[in-house]
Amino acid sequence: MLQQLRDIVERVARATSLPQALDTLVASTCHAMKAEVCSVYIADEETQSYRLIATKGLKKSRRNVSLKFGEGLVGYVGQRAEPINVAEATRHKHYKHLRGIGEEPFHSFLGTPIIHRRKVMGVLVVQQREQRLFDESEESFLVTLAAQLAIALAHARAQGVWLKSNETLTIDAVASSPGVAVATGYWDDDQPRLENVLPMSTLDVDLELERLLVAMEKAKTEFRRLRKRFDSDLKNDTLAIFDLFSHLLNDPMLRRDLEAKIRNRAQAEWAVRQVVESYSARFAQMSDSYLRERAQDLRELGQRLLYYLSNDSQPEFDWPEMRVLFTRELTAAILAAIPRDKLAGVVSMEGASNSHAAILLRAMGVPAIMGAEYEPKSVHGKQVVVDGYGGRVLVEPSEPVLDEYRQLMQEEVELYDKVEQELNKPCVTADGLTVQVNLNAGLSADTSISVNQGVDGVGLYRTEVPFLLQRSFPSEDEQYHLYRDVLHAYQNKQVVMRTLDVGGDKPLPYLSIEEDNPFLGWRGIRFTLDHPDIFLIQLRAMLRASIGLDNLDILLPMISGIVELEEALALVNQAYTEVAKQAVEMSQVLHRPRIGVMVEVPSLLYQLDHLKGRVDFLSIGTNDLTQYLLAVDRNNVRVASLYDALHPSVISALDLILAKAKALHLPVCVCGELAGDPLGALLLVGMGYDSLSMNNRNVARIKYILRQANAAELAAIADECRSAISPHVIRDALTKYIESHQLGGFIRAGKE
Ligand code: PEP
Ligand code: MG
Repeated sequence: MLQQLRDIVERVARATSLPQALDTLVASTCHAMKAEVCSVYIADEETQSYRLIATKGLKKSRRNVSLKFGEGLVGYVGQRAEPINVAEATRHKHYKHLRGIGEEPFHSFLGTPIIHRRKVMGVLVVQQREQRLFDESEESFLVTLAAQLAIALAHARAQGVWLKSNETLTIDAVASSPGVAVATGYWDDDQPRLENVLPMSTLDVDLELERLLVAMEKAKTEFRRLRKRFDSDLKNDTLAIFDLFSHLLNDPMLRRDLEAKIRNRAQAEWAVRQVVESYSARFAQMSDSYLRERAQDLRELGQRLLYYLSNDSQPEFDWPEMRVLFTRELTAAILAAIPRDKLAGVVSMEGASNSHAAILLRAMGVPAIMGAEYEPKSVHGKQVVVDGYGGRVLVEPSEPVLDEYRQLMQEEVELYDKVEQELNKPCVTADGLTVQVNLNAGLSADTSISVNQGVDGVGLYRTEVPFLLQRSFPSEDEQYHLYRDVLHAYQNKQVVMRTLDVGGDKPLPYLSIEEDNPFLGWRGIRFTLDHPDIFLIQLRAMLRASIGLDNLDILLPMISGIVELEEALALVNQAYTEVAKQAVEMSQVLHRPRIGVMVEVPSLLYQLDHLKGRVDFLSIGTNDLTQYLLAVDRNNVRVASLYDALHPSVISALDLILAKAKALHLPVCVCGELAGDPLGALLLVGMGYDSLSMNNRNVARIKYILRQANAAELAAIADECRSAISPHVIRDALTKYIESHQLGGFIRAGKE
């Protein structure tokens, strides 16, 4: 059965159009299951019905054959979202006779839903003359086939294959940065093409060999990662390609041939083109059809090698006007290459709402959606609307729709201007509670920090970006200058600088680490404790930068236990002693900075008592706290709907931390994205938090919202939320409050 399933999927994958693929599917399924009828019905939301779009065994009618949702056996399968297996269809209470399709001779019926991401996209049916129940193996065969079909159909839908002539192509995905953009779409296809590589020679053979080696290693790591990631999702032949690529990359002959070309002074790219073309020409001439087809795979491998060879250079975006960037994955390097005033919005295939790229886009005020599936050709050069509230992209929508979105954009600008005018007003609630509002900074590729006059200090300065953008670790002096600028820009305010938190979704480009679970892996303090050299350089740079300004606080990320903390503190002390000595030699004084920990790994929740006397303050990273508490990868689109910082468990954890911090007399600030979210900020203040840290973009609006709010009322809502059993209840209560205060414009409703 498994082999038959594989054969069907492979045959379907080879089809050149969706109708052809479905025709192949129904015919092969009939053959494999020895069934007389196999049909595919597709859900049409607009008409609320299932349309018969492919069949083997029934009469193909000229008219549209369809069944309303819930109507007939097909509608019943969709409604129950589970297989229905009956020996005599006509006797079933949901049976509905459809005229003109020649269904009458067939008695037995097995239908299974085609489900993608919890949504029934259609129904797959087999029928037979014989009056009998399909057995278990037949049922599981059809269910497995439907699961594979669901992926193919979702993909086809994302490509607009099913669109009626006047319908707008809509791409739904994860809302990752609020706001609306209307501009021309641009698919980032900056990769060099194999056929465009020109003969180039090199004088530095060793350098080219090194580049080739690095590219091959990167490609291997990436293929292994993709192979694992798509394991459950993709058709076997696609997975097989990753295996084939890995196999070829390990092939000594290929490697030898590539190296020989370079030793003959060919530049790495030129060597790749020559070798790949000669190999693929040989494959193309083979008599075996399977091997012949591998010629194309070889070219694809060459293409990918080129990508990794070119990836050490900065991408270039020379845009004459504002564009919406469509990309596979938004990297710091891509963002660094696009001038902010040209970037209208971002639509990325990878990532979810709390990926670091999403956090950065929110800070920049660039609307974005992530985890989107689309065909680059269908968006490049087209006018698109990015609805960052609803998580939706509309491609070439009608004028009235465009007008609606333009109106929304105008309202946004007006709201933005209004709150910005009041930026400098203190953040005091209507009933007199003062809330500290701090700035989150450092994620932007533009390392010159924006000076925000409206904040009480910098609550979180992320230090990763210079490490991510360069080809090697930045030197102590380079770091010193960066940190000095930041401390100087906020010289009369405290600046909390976090030590390096690479790993997770911020891997260092020059230190390739392969991990199954990067967010549970070598990240944050774990990495820096294993690399005291890098850690000490950074600490020294921070401390030196603080001399004479005395406004530095140091924050340690990803602390999971006290031993880890003690080790980190010992290194901080070591750096402090060294820099203090240097300062004395130069007749200067180094003040000891306050040291804090991020509370973001759940294990620390149960060790908070031990922090007393060891650290001076706490900072809560709700982004990671949420992901680790809920066991939901913040970067994974498939579980994006489960990631919710308003989850009752996160709220309980936040209650616990605040109570402990008060008892231990440790100042505490919330610096995760929840603090900069209108609903989150209201809830946190209601819970008793009075220090929040957020991105530049949110400072003015959160201050404005809190000024209109009443802390006593918020405390009552927080109390209500404490007994909630779902994030929805909490969100609804807060939404009601924000709307009753005429602040609804800050949280526009999403889709559906
Ligand atoms: C957090 O985890 O909430 C946080 C502020 O840090 P980061 O998003 O950089 O992991
Ligand atoms: Mg974190």
